[in-house]
Amino acid sequence: AVFAASSLSQLSEVWSELSQASGAAERIAEIFDEQPAVKPPAHPLPLPEPPRGEVGFVAVRFAYPASPDVKVLDGVTFTIKPGEKVAIVGPSGAGKSTIFSLLLRFYDPAGGVIRFDGVPINEADPKALRSRIALVPQDVVVFGMSVADNIRYGRPEATDAEVMEAAKLAFADEFITRMPGGYGSLIGERGVTLSGGQRQRIAIARAILRDAPLLLLDEATSALDAESETMVQRALSRLMEGRTTLVIAHRLATVLTCDRILVMDEGRVVEEGTHASLVAAGGLYARLADLQFNQGPALAQVSLPAAL
Ligand code: ADP
Ligand code: MG
Repeated sequence: AVFAASSLSQLSEVWSELSQASGAAERIAEIFDEQPAVKPPAHPLPLPEPPRGEVGFVAVRFAYPASPDVKVLDGVTFTIKPGEKVAIVGPSGAGKSTIFSLLLRFYDPAGGVIRFDGVPINEADPKALRSRIALVPQDVVVFGMSVADNIRYGRPEATDAEVMEAAKLAFADEFITRMPGGYGSLIGERGVTLSGGQRQRIAIARAILRDAPLLLLDEATSALDAESETMVQRALSRLMEGRTTLVIAHRLATVLTCDRILVMDEGRVVEEGTHASLVAAGGLYARLADLQFNQGPALAQVSLPAAL
């Protein structure tokens, strides 16, 4: 979707807190139908400085306000150490994206505790929390403004030089400089159209610019052309360097780069391990991997263990 700049500013007025937060621009589509119900605490606890990027879920239970009887998360417990790369995999509807919504505090759990750098997130200032998180969503939203401003959305005060540096690191510079208007090119109906892989790289550049200690990545399910696929993978590994990363993974190449995999099913973490250990265990992950990874471009890039 491409939003006109005017609708963006209207939205920012209504959702000023959210739109300044995180990769919140990308969440506007969701914000339209999901009104977050959380209240900031009267006396918020400070988050430690410098941030470490440590995440902990303890017995987290959750149901969406619209369907309070459906247990979306049913006792989720896991810890992610600073700098660790963890993949979340599981069937559609397992609760993977809900983990991200709770971490960004769009909702509060019905039970259990979520901590960021040791602080229960419902006791922290939501703005402070979200400033420590970068989100690369599945479906990247771009706005009817210049390419440079679209990237700057990751950090509004960034200079042109910083925007270009982020674009270079995200492998976006090569396609941007090929546009007739370069970084000033207008995106949208009266401007340039971006391919799926180009949008992904814009989102990665935004996240690089944000420079947050925790990266939440909801990997695109749709196949990209082979060139974009390679560029996006390279840009992502760069973005993940030195950051705690939680990735909802759909590609074998991605899970293979992670330190650990959490397998979710029906609102629970049902298995945990490395790709090799989970394949050897022959459980849900082994079946999912067989279905999901035995197709698409990921296969061409890696050699599979014999067990697959
Ligand atoms: P996944 O990302 O693993 O596919 P989600 O976390 O998106 O799963 O969804 C988990 C469950 O919660 C699903 O049953 C889904 O239909 C439901 N759900 C997701 N978002 C909402 C919402 N805004 N309101 C009500 N139910 C929702
Ligand atoms: Mg999802």
